[in-house]
Amino acid sequence: MITRSSALLQRPAPETQPLPVQARWQTQLAGAIRDPRELCRRLGLDTAWQDGAARGHALFEVRVPEAYLARIRPGDPSDPLLHQVLPLIEEDHPVAGYVADPLAEAEHTPARGLIHKYAGRVLLIASPACAVNCRYCFRRHFPYAENAPSRAQWEESLDYIREDPTIREAILSGGDPLAASDRQLAWLVERLDAIPHLRRLRIHTRLPVVIPERIDAALLGWLSATRLQKVMVLHINHANEIDEAVIAACRRLSDAGVTLLNQSVLLRGVNDSVEALAALSERLFEAGVLPYYLHVLDPVAGAAHFDVSDDQARELVAGLREVLPGFLMPRLVREIPGEASKTPL
Ligand SMILES: *Cc1c(COP(=O)(O)O)cnc(C)c1O
Ligand code: SF4
Repeated sequence: MITRSSALLQRPAPETQPLPVQARWQTQLAGAIRDPRELCRRLGLDTAWQDGAARGHALFEVRVPEAYLARIRPGDPSDPLLHQVLPLIEEDHPVAGYVADPLAEAEHTPARGLIHKYAGRVLLIASPACAVNCRYCFRRHFPYAENAPSRAQWEESLDYIREDPTIREAILSGGDPLAASDRQLAWLVERLDAIPHLRRLRIHTRLPVVIPERIDAALLGWLSATRLQKVMVLHINHANEIDEAVIAACRRLSDAGVTLLNQSVLLRGVNDSVEALAALSERLFEAGVLPYYLHVLDPVAGAAHFDVSDDQARELVAGLREVLPGFLMPRLVREIPGEASKTPL
C-alpha cells in the first residue's frame, strides 16, 4: 500500500532505539500549553495580562507548543510571536463589522469538509485541529466538529473531485492538515493520486513552523510517493518564527520535491512595518521559501485589534517594493466572499 513510507519506517533509526510508538511531534502537540495562566507564567508576564488572557481563552482556547514558546522573548509583552498567541481582553469587545464567518464559507461546502470556491481548486478540511491557536484566525469560530469527516464522508468529497474534470488541484487545509496522522494522510493522498485529472497537491500548513519535527520520515514517505506535483504553503508572519529547526524542516521538504511558498497576515503589532516585512521575506528566502500572499485581516469577531487600514497596507507594500527584489514581494490581497479569486489591493 504505502510501500515507500513503510520502507522508510523500517530503516533503522539513527539512535538504535526502537521507533517510538507515538512520534515526537505528536508528543509535542499533545504537550502544548493550553492554560492562559501557564503561558503568562512561563513568559514572565504579570497578573494584568493573565486576566485578559483568561477572558480571551474562554472564547478561543490557548494553544502554544514548546518549540514555538522557545522563540518568544520572556518578559516582553510586545514580542511579535507572543502577540499572535496571547489572548487579550480586547477579544471580548464586539466591534461593528467583525463577524463569526467573515468569508461565508458555510455557503460553499458541497460535500462535508470540502470547499469549492475557485476554478480548478478544491479545499479539503483534512484536520479540524491546529498545532497553535492564532488569535487573528478567521476560522476561530468555524464549526469544526461538523467539518471533520469520517472515511465514508471522505469518499463523498473524493467522489465530488472524481466527477469534476475541471478540478486540477486539491488543497489540504484545516485547521492544520498536518495535525492529522500520517496514516490518514497517506490514505487520502493515495486516493487523490488515483484521480487522473488531478495534477497538484497543495498543503496549507503552519505545523512545520510551530513543530518542525513534524517533517519526519513518515511524512516524507507518503509525500514522496505521490505522482502529484507538490506545493506547500507555509504560514509565517515574522522573521523570528524561522529558527534553524524550521530551516532544516524546509530543506527536508525541498529535497522531497516540494515547492515552498509562504502566506502571511498583515497584523498590527506583529509585522506592520517595512522593516519587519522585509526581514521576513529575506529570512524566508534563506529557508528556501518564496513569499506568496500577504493577506489583510479577515474581519473575524475578536481580532479587530490586529487591523491595519487598507491605506497603511498599500503604503507598507510600496515601501517594501523600494527595498526588496521583485521575487521577494508578497501579493497584498483580501478575500471577499463571492469573488472568484483573492482580490489584489
Ligand atoms: C485561498 C483559497 C484557495 C486558493 O487560492 P489561490 O489563489 O490559488 O492560492 C482555494 N480555495 C479556497 C476556498 C480558498 O480560500
Ligand atoms: S494555524 Fe492557521 S487555521 Fe490554525 S489557528 Fe493558526 S491561522 Fe488559524
